[in-house]
Amino acid sequence: MSVHIDCDVVVVGSGAGGGPAASELARAGLDVVVLEMGDKHDPKTFTQREEDMFPRLFQDAASRTTADRSIQVLQGKGVGGSTVHNLNLCKRVDDELLDVWEREHGLPGLRMALAPHYAVVEQRIEVSEVPWDRVTRNNRLLRVGAEALGWKHGPLKHNRKGCIGSGFCELGCAYDAKMNSARVFLPDAELHGARVLPGHRVTRVTTALGRATGVVGEGPTGEFSVRARGVVLSASATGSSAIVLASGLPDPWRQAGRGLHLHPGATVGGVFPDPVDGWKGIPQSWECTEFLHPTDPDRRVWLVPVFGHPVGVGSMLPGIGASATKRMASFRHIAAMTPMLHDTSVGRIEATRDARPIIQYQSNEADLRMMAKGMMGAARILLAAGATEVLIPTSRPRIITAHDQAKALANVALGPLDPPLAAVHPMGGLCMGGDPKRSSCDATGLYHQLPNLWVADGSLFPTSTGVPPQLSIYAFGHLVGQAAAAALENK
Ligand SMILES: Cc1cc2nc3c(=O)[nH]c(=O)nc-3n(C[C@H](O)[C@H](O)[C@H](O)COP(=O)(O)OP(=O)(O)OC[C@H]3O[C@@H](n4cnc5c(N)ncnc54)[C@H](O)[C@@H]3O)c2cc1C
Ligand code: SF4
Repeated sequence: MSVHIDCDVVVVGSGAGGGPAASELARAGLDVVVLEMGDKHDPKTFTQREEDMFPRLFQDAASRTTADRSIQVLQGKGVGGSTVHNLNLCKRVDDELLDVWEREHGLPGLRMALAPHYAVVEQRIEVSEVPWDRVTRNNRLLRVGAEALGWKHGPLKHNRKGCIGSGFCELGCAYDAKMNSARVFLPDAELHGARVLPGHRVTRVTTALGRATGVVGEGPTGEFSVRARGVVLSASATGSSAIVLASGLPDPWRQAGRGLHLHPGATVGGVFPDPVDGWKGIPQSWECTEFLHPTDPDRRVWLVPVFGHPVGVGSMLPGIGASATKRMASFRHIAAMTPMLHDTSVGRIEATRDARPIIQYQSNEADLRMMAKGMMGAARILLAAGATEVLIPTSRPRIITAHDQAKALANVALGPLDPPLAAVHPMGGLCMGGDPKRSSCDATGLYHQLPNLWVADGSLFPTSTGVPPQLSIYAFGHLVGQAAAAALENK
């Protein structure tokens, strides 16, 4: 059965970008419809089991990869998007990098324009520092190691309220303690009259006479169409590009889908004499920034503990068969860390005819060298914190027991699938910029080629952010929502 809906503005996707955009549009008095391809989740039904929660919360049941299968790309689906299963870290993009965006991407004044939106969303999602008494052993070991080496390190901020430290954030919070899009922004949008419709996958933006006229797609009962005065794409850095490409929207400079970054990360495990129990407590609360700088090309890797759940650790550790079983026998004693790249490799989104994303991305030489440096850094921190051996998941697994061996890691030649990488921060694809020949959207998220189509998600970033992106996506969602509301109210 075909369903038709009329509204002022349709928001596609309900994650970090779509939530605040919908909230601002609805607060402005506009009739808002949010279309979300995934289900509405009830946190009380979250089981904390990987085999159950991955298919429920993640795109492609968490098996999405780059087209060459070298990088696993984790993204969420369902009301709240990736904010339902993310790890709640909140960091602003560094001012130095925002200055580069202003200068090199034709976005003058962006830093000043964004600041009030950061402030509002930080207050609404209640960003605070993780208190020391909630910092787990996995995280404390990073601090011990970094301190022993004299490296830069410090606490992280998060958006949790009522967190009991169960540790299973990546599988959704059964205690509903995340101050995320599903808990903060979407209920606010609904309070102001918005309709949030799960199970609606958009396949195309419709246009007429040089304007967007709405969207069409597949819903729970068949095809649907929405007619709207404005369209906001918030389907993520892969999903929004795929919709633009599949719709054949005007794109004379072939910018749609370009400028993709992933922040790929590897996993490095340290085996300690005493249990670490890396799955317990708030997963990521301490960072090492010795090798991370917003704009220095030689310092582009962030070191942070990872959530040590069994499948995650098991799939990233070196070895197969009996040797993997032996490794997993020491699971309780493993502290896991990730070197995560502030990547300069540039990928590209392509799309199937029905708007499913195809992720083309290959790591460049500089990024592979930086990953080797990051593995060296992680190994040295773990050794300095007392690990008896460090496990490096290169195709020829390396077991490191001394600092000299760890230092040599910086010169190891890496390649595709060596080591296996995972990416949780896709960004870019419909990048902001002043020049329509080099970008897709302006600084308010407005698509250069249509006067009533906006992008409000991770697609907008013109480079890698080098920090976890959700806070900036919330802030841009808020900014774009207000800009779109102002434009539509005046019509
Ligand atoms: C495991 C994990 C941990 C993370 N931890 C952190 C962290 O600690 N801190 C941090 O800053 N970031 C973290 N992130 C990243 C962060 O969650 C994302 O960058 C952010 O949520 C992206 O926001 P978005 O609005 O661009 O997309 P999303 O939040 O992914 O929302 C996009 C939504 O659009 C929907 N959609 C897609 N296509 C369509 C379509 N065609 N029709 C209708 N709906 C569609 C999707 O189902 C999804 O719900 C993590 C991510 C993962 C995977
Ligand atoms: S650690 Fe806190 S936020 Fe994460 S799942 Fe457990 S209770 Fe929820």
